[in-house]
Amino acid sequence: MKPIQEIFPLLTQPRNIVITTHQKPDADAMGSSLALRHFLVQFGHTVTVVSPTNWAGWVNWMPGVKEVLDYEMDKQKTKRILDNADWLFCLDFNIFHRTKTLTEELKQLTCTKILIDHHQEPDAASFDYGISDTTKSSTCEMIYDFIIGSGHADKINEEVGECIYAGVVGDTGSFRFSSAHAGVHSLVADLKSRGLNHGPVHEKLFDNFLENRLRFVGHVLLHRMEVFYEYNTVLIAVPKSDLQKYQIKTGDTEGLVNFPQSIQGIKLVALVIDRDEERKWSFRSKDDFDCNAFARKYFEGGGHFNAAGGRSSDSLEKTVAYFKQVLKENENLL
Ligand code: 5GP
Ligand code: MN
Repeated sequence: MKPIQEIFPLLTQPRNIVITTHQKPDADAMGSSLALRHFLVQFGHTVTVVSPTNWAGWVNWMPGVKEVLDYEMDKQKTKRILDNADWLFCLDFNIFHRTKTLTEELKQLTCTKILIDHHQEPDAASFDYGISDTTKSSTCEMIYDFIIGSGHADKINEEVGECIYAGVVGDTGSFRFSSAHAGVHSLVADLKSRGLNHGPVHEKLFDNFLENRLRFVGHVLLHRMEVFYEYNTVLIAVPKSDLQKYQIKTGDTEGLVNFPQSIQGIKLVALVIDRDEERKWSFRSKDDFDCNAFARKYFEGGGHFNAAGGRSSDSLEKTVAYFKQVLKENENLL
């Protein structure tokens, strides 16, 4: 993988560009993809953002989201556009299987593949150019660096600024995680000086749910949460029946894993949701518990040190029993 800087001189020559990201894109994935799109179109490129799957309602406000192709909804059109691409940008993921059913389509492409990502253990051999930096708060921060590094800061318009800010807010837990280093605050100051109106972005991200979602959160915290004080751990296991009863849609479970972190002394929070295709795990930790290593070792997953995800094809009951068993094994780390 050659350094990302090597594509800077090539930016001014118009190309067919596809930008893609991980399945069920969150604020950072969608924000970075759209920010890059709004930047690149200013050079005359033809740019399409492709999402492997659908996405949460609370990213639907992002400028340009209406033009994003959902691969699962329009496979033929997506394939056509991918086959025509000169460049493929892969943002906020670093190994093709994070794009689910899009994986095989991406693997067989012969166009130039460019990685911009902040997760651990990238599959660098699959990309021609790129940057992988786990010290970055978000892929949106890396898109900002990309724009500044290319010498085209003047192209940070309102759309670019809003999308970048949304992803930074999303991935830093609204600036609370240690990943919100000084450079992140400088970035925000720069976006503000360029006219960013940050308040509405928070509202559109966090005050944008329906009543049923809040009632679902209440129900789950009351009935589905187990606290293991001996392991400083909280487990929430959400059965399919809850998702059906409260008509839970993509994105409605975002943030659920954060609530138990407000309990004094809790070091690890684990959330498992009984999805149709798999049991999806989310892990959040404080201090020195490595969620990435834990998710990789036991739940076919990964991510960051204090936030990771994983999966299981076992039943909810079985995967919960397995979690309780590995919790014991990890007792001295908790
Ligand atoms: P979340 O719990 O919000 O789904 O994910 C937390 C972090 O872990 C995110 O950065 C996400 O991209 C990453 N992540 C989630 N699931 C997986 C997975 O199955 N594999 C890997 N490598 N990373 C994941
Ligand atoms: Mn991210």
